[in-house]
Amino acid sequence: MHKLLCGVDIGGTKCATALVDTNGKIVDKINTCAHVDLNEDGLVKLVAGQIKELFSRNNLQESDVEGIGIGCAGHIRFKDGVIITTSNLKGFKNYPLRDKMQAYFKIPVILDNDANAQAFGAFKFGAGKGYTDMVFLTISTGIGAGIIINNKLYRGVTGTAGEFGHTIIEPNSDLTCSCGNKGCIMAHACGMALPYLYKKKINEGKVSKLNLPSNFNISKLSGQILKKGLDMDDPVSKEIISDSAYYVGLGIYNIFQTLNPPLVVLGGGLTNWGDFYLDKIKATFRELARDMIFDPMDIVISNIGADAGVIGAAALTIE
Ligand SMILES: [Zn+2]
Repeated sequence: MHKLLCGVDIGGTKCATALVDTNGKIVDKINTCAHVDLNEDGLVKLVAGQIKELFSRNNLQESDVEGIGIGCAGHIRFKDGVIITTSNLKGFKNYPLRDKMQAYFKIPVILDNDANAQAFGAFKFGAGKGYTDMVFLTISTGIGAGIIINNKLYRGVTGTAGEFGHTIIEPNSDLTCSCGNKGCIMAHACGMALPYLYKKKINEGKVSKLNLPSNFNISKLSGQILKKGLDMDDPVSKEIISDSAYYVGLGIYNIFQTLNPPLVVLGGGLTNWGDFYLDKIKATFRELARDMIFDPMDIVISNIGADAGVIGAAALTIE
């Protein structure tokens, strides 16, 4: 019998812990939001308890499980298993999460950035199956990437390779990113940017069919709301989605010129914008790459779905 894998996806609002089989299917899962109010050690204790709960209710010994993979947003020093910083949770500055969790278990614990985890999940169990190299982009509240070269994640000297969201695509932009620089792709093309982009269109005199209530808090303008706009043919929603897609297409062009991968997989919430979004991304890429494409490079939306984070974290145990 193949051993099961255990994954933990620590997000800013939700924390998921799951047992996953070697085909990438969830066997059992616990979701919690209780981690948000806990301090660092409290979070580790909560998650360790949930992992043990999953083991016991599935009649598993620790030795029936390959290892525990943890995906967490933020800058992770991979070789030391340390969270350098994360904007998703309070605290966690230079916090040795891996070793703190390891103290509860004998099987190996691996900590990596959530985009790397999702990338490896897509590589092992999703669109990346059969490839040896690919790049994964997650486009949701922020933008991150995971780079797979020769069947392994490429992490760089610190472990922060793939911080693609902070690559600069408009140096003269008036949009400041969460990192403090102007014109990062994240400032132009992710969930965080949408309220600003919407306000800008309205200030330019564009009229939206979205009919948002007059007391609507624009900072809550989400990808889902714009998806509704897209479905009702709202010109403002379509322009924002199209502008975002342009920057993602441009970013993929830069990735293509840097790494020449055979495959780019897109994940994250904003990919729910579907074909309208993907077609514009591909068109931008093709326009820029023109006659420099000598072999096919596929750009596809990930097929793993809502559990991509925790499935990816579990996949880290078999890298
Ligand atoms: Zn930035």
